[in-house]
Amino acid sequence: MASKTLPAIYLDGQSSKKNEVQVHFDENEIRLIDAEGQLLRQDAYQDLSVEPVLANMHGTIRFSDGAVCEFANGRDLHSVLPESKTRKTFSIIHKLENHLPLVGLALLLVVVSTWGVLKYGVPFAAKAAAYTIPLSWEKTTGEQVLEGMDRALFSESALSSERQKELQAKFSDFTTKIERSYDYEILFRASPKMGANALALPGGTIIITDELVNITKDDREVIAVLAHEIAHIEKRHMMRHMFQDSVTVLLLVLITGDLESATSLVATLPTVMVQMHYSRMFESEADKHGASLLLSQGLKPEWLAIALEHLEQAHEGKGKSRGFLSSHPSTPERVATLRKM
Ligand SMILES: [Zn+2]
Repeated sequence: MASKTLPAIYLDGQSSKKNEVQVHFDENEIRLIDAEGQLLRQDAYQDLSVEPVLANMHGTIRFSDGAVCEFANGRDLHSVLPESKTRKTFSIIHKLENHLPLVGLALLLVVVSTWGVLKYGVPFAAKAAAYTIPLSWEKTTGEQVLEGMDRALFSESALSSERQKELQAKFSDFTTKIERSYDYEILFRASPKMGANALALPGGTIIITDELVNITKDDREVIAVLAHEIAHIEKRHMMRHMFQDSVTVLLLVLITGDLESATSLVATLPTVMVQMHYSRMFESEADKHGASLLLSQGLKPEWLAIALEHLEQAHEGKGKSRGFLSSHPSTPERVATLRKM
């Protein structure tokens, strides 16, 4: 093998003096020649250790007596080293860096497995976790959410107490007969900010706005909307959403390595996309389960379709939070599906 030569800085490990040297790489050993052409040292490859090199970082050879040789370019150093036991100390990272197809494959694996975990693993784990939460914990969470909403969004209902009692009676008549795992209660609130809306809180409380009561033409529409909200509670959607959110962010932090980039636009984009899918899944699930609850009491799912159409009309052209009307799936899509049930 013809000898190859690279310039380097030599530190003898005794003094701090930096010596400029030429390093000759022979078949079994390296030789260090200083600026005056003097042989500084001569070492067999098996007595050296070579540090793995990352990207175009500098290269380092360590001698057994503590002396060090620094090379400007680690890749150049590694390219002149013979296939000896020194080379076997290269890290897998270095090998990967020199094998782009492997890097691509590794990247693809990360993307595919992340996608799989987000799409199937996280929802599965969140669902399992949501069903283990004690009712008292859910109720406390629900009360806290209600407190915040009462401060920010709601005011006292303007519905007459007779009207409230009438709807309460119809609601409890419905809820006592259906198959359920919670005791439900409805609360009436006015909300010019939200407009016509209904919200399910963890623990079994459902809030209905005066605006929603007022846009419906038949109380069976109100019951249908409440059935949809009951379905959200029965299926633990709020808790599942909360777990999924936290776990998704946590996963992205783990993968990207820092919180800042995980919360930046690029990193939150997949989260948003995954969440759109989640909420789409939850809305469809709530429509489906709500419809089955209605059917079990001899009410047509059509009533929910009619309520959705009235809601759509009420929110049209207004900049208010759509809330009950999530944009995915779209209202016509939901109405069409409900009419087929
Ligand atoms: Zn919903």
